[in-house]
Amino acid sequence: MQKIKDTKSNMRFIPSVDRVLNTTEIKELLNHLPRWLVLMIIRDVLDEIRKSVAQVKGSLDQDMALKKTVDLVKEKIDSIQKTSLKRVINGTGIIIHTNLGRSPLPNEALHLINEVARGYSNLEYDLLEGKRGKRVVHVQDLILRLTGACEAFVVNNNAGAVLLALNSLAEGREVIVSRGELVEIGGSFRIPDVMRKSGASMIEVGTTNRTHLSDFESAITDRTALLLKVHTSNYRIMGFSAEVSLQDMVELGSKYDIPVMMDLGSGNLTHLSFLGLKGEPIVQQVLSTGVDVITFSGDKLLGGPQAGIILTQSSESMSQIKTNPLARALRIDKLTLAALEATLLLYQKMDYISSIPVLRMINLPVKEIKAHAEACLSALLKVNREMMILKIQKDVSNVGGGALPGESMPTYVIGFDKGLISVEVLDRAFRDSCPAVVGRIKDGTYKLDFRTICEEEIPILVKLYECIVNKMVS
Ligand SMILES: *Cc1c(COP(=O)(O)O)cnc(C)c1O
Repeated sequence: MQKIKDTKSNMRFIPSVDRVLNTTEIKELLNHLPRWLVLMIIRDVLDEIRKSVAQVKGSLDQDMALKKTVDLVKEKIDSIQKTSLKRVINGTGIIIHTNLGRSPLPNEALHLINEVARGYSNLEYDLLEGKRGKRVVHVQDLILRLTGACEAFVVNNNAGAVLLALNSLAEGREVIVSRGELVEIGGSFRIPDVMRKSGASMIEVGTTNRTHLSDFESAITDRTALLLKVHTSNYRIMGFSAEVSLQDMVELGSKYDIPVMMDLGSGNLTHLSFLGLKGEPIVQQVLSTGVDVITFSGDKLLGGPQAGIILTQSSESMSQIKTNPLARALRIDKLTLAALEATLLLYQKMDYISSIPVLRMINLPVKEIKAHAEACLSALLKVNREMMILKIQKDVSNVGGGALPGESMPTYVIGFDKGLISVEVLDRAFRDSCPAVVGRIKDGTYKLDFRTICEEEIPILVKLYECIVNKMVS
């Protein structure tokens, strides 16, 4: 009974919109914020208070209720003025982390984005001729030099590249693909779904674990437009398995005069075996099989911006692709094009591995990772105030991004064990920081992997930890 009475009387103390508007604090806000926005926030806050007033124990008084409302309005206004998109320090050890924005860009890419975006550019203007040009020319020759392909085109992302290529080359006809390669990438890209949207009919052959060349051959009809191979980027089929090599598919294709396309997933222009990792196909080698069309991403192993790259060995296929109205719908934007050109230019240099962040992180010697972790640990211990138990541990990092599944690299992490602060509280506080820090909890320890945390981020990390510790102490 008492509670209902409290709720009723507390309701009466909820201030009116006008009273809130007339406080000096809100009047101050109105000097630099539009009235409609402040009003909207006040109404939202009052609604929330009305809903939660039943939870208030005891009775409110009028001044308290007004002060509380004003505080909430100010808090909410602060929060809606901050960008939602923000920097994250990646302590997961996953180098190409799709949820954390995949590849960090090289400085050269950031520089060209800035140049091109701050004013006008020759995006679609031929400065030599003084007339309209095409945006793809800025990367076309560069891609051809780096890969040895005959024709190149770029679109918004690899999903778009696959859709565009399938639609241009096989709409209304059949595409043969192995059941072992009907991949799904991150929930929203599935080969069967993209195939359906492209207007091509998918002819599945073989079984999940074994597909033979004869399966492809017996599925070929006069409706066959394409043989498709998909790189199984995020998983491996182990044990009793068989897949048809691209080389064999190309030979079969040429016997029946049917083009072969491969969705490579991650575009690898390096010889990753230099980096101690094997198994991710190299674009140049894939092309040397004679495959007709390949597509890959710009922001996986390539280490550039989100983009989809299409390479073909014949100008007929490429002209079908370029003249497709979908090409316009999927076109690359100028910021991406700038970042892509600048990243690709680096591949023409000797030291490209050190200037492309993704490749640098893959190539980082374990000794260096350990040194960074140790430097960070000693700085953390100075601000730790015995709040957590810190230690250096050996661990493994992954490339991620649908590249090199099952391959891992040795690394060092700082492990945070529960002290006065629990690992869950630390995890949450790090995610709330600005920049945010994302690590992982494994076996009850919060871990930060120094393969993906660069040297410049160490002082920032220490400062953030110091703030968290100080907040807990006070
Ligand atoms: C990642 C991937 C895609 C999707 O590429 P996006 O650039 O993310 O659109 C398609 N196919 C394969 C095999 C992939 O690995």
